[in-house]
Amino acid sequence: MVTGAGDGIGRVTAHTLAARGATVILLGRTVSKLESLYDEIHSSDAPEPGIVPMDLMNTSEDKINEMANAIGEQYGRLDGILHNASILGTRLPFANSDLNEWREVMQVNFMAPVMLTRLLLPLVERSNDASIVFTSSSVGNKPRAYWSAYAVSKYALEGLALLLADELENTSAIRINIVNPAATRTAMRAAAYPAEDPMTVKTAEELMPLYLYLLGNRHGGEHGELFDPRTWEPPKR
Ligand code: NAP
Repeated sequence: MVTGAGDGIGRVTAHTLAARGATVILLGRTVSKLESLYDEIHSSDAPEPGIVPMDLMNTSEDKINEMANAIGEQYGRLDGILHNASILGTRLPFANSDLNEWREVMQVNFMAPVMLTRLLLPLVERSNDASIVFTSSSVGNKPRAYWSAYAVSKYALEGLALLLADELENTSAIRINIVNPAATRTAMRAAAYPAEDPMTVKTAEELMPLYLYLLGNRHGGEHGELFDPRTWEPPKR
């Protein structure tokens, strides 16, 4: 499952996983984007993807349980979750920040991954080689002035990932890791740095060796680690 599959890094990852033979469940909020991605994947030789239209801002335990039941019936298990969907919110001094925006950003970027992971865990436990990847940010590892709820949501997300990694270390084969994609040419990056020339920023495609390594079956068993494409090198085999 890839959340926020309709655009940006999520879209490229869904394509890449499908091209490598994965049956990808595309979760996102804009149905037209999911449908065009579905058509692109379905018209290739890749396995038919699944579509889950879900606005993570307004989701609920009932909606996620309904989805989990449907996934269980159709696919039997989940081999991986990429928690990728996220909103940026407004960057401004804390003293001027809007409390409703805090709630929204924390819901999409943090509470939704909590809810999805908690309720999908039984399906992930049915896999014998599962991976859950949480997408953070440089400002999540070390919150930076004015990055407001976005930074704090990612900091909390890293906390969740480390908590789960510690809990599951000796009781499960599920690998839990964090990725900080760092500057990547997407709509979110353009919104965060409007004066930047996008051509100076790496593409989402350039992240794919790392994402495939973490989500695929040729990993090295890494667990509880933070990955950054600027320092990561594929292991020599
Ligand atoms: P993006 O282009 O803005 O894509 C974000 C995706 O999340 C979109 O598909 C969006 O759906 C989806 N999404 C947003 N709100 C949602 C909601 N309420 N419910 C369901 N889906 C929702 O962002 P990106 O740059 O690819 O970012 C991907 C991840 O990398 C994010 O976690 C981001 O924080 C992280 N990251 C990115 C960068 C970077 O430079 N790009 C750097 C560090 C970290 P719609 O298409 O329908 O809007």
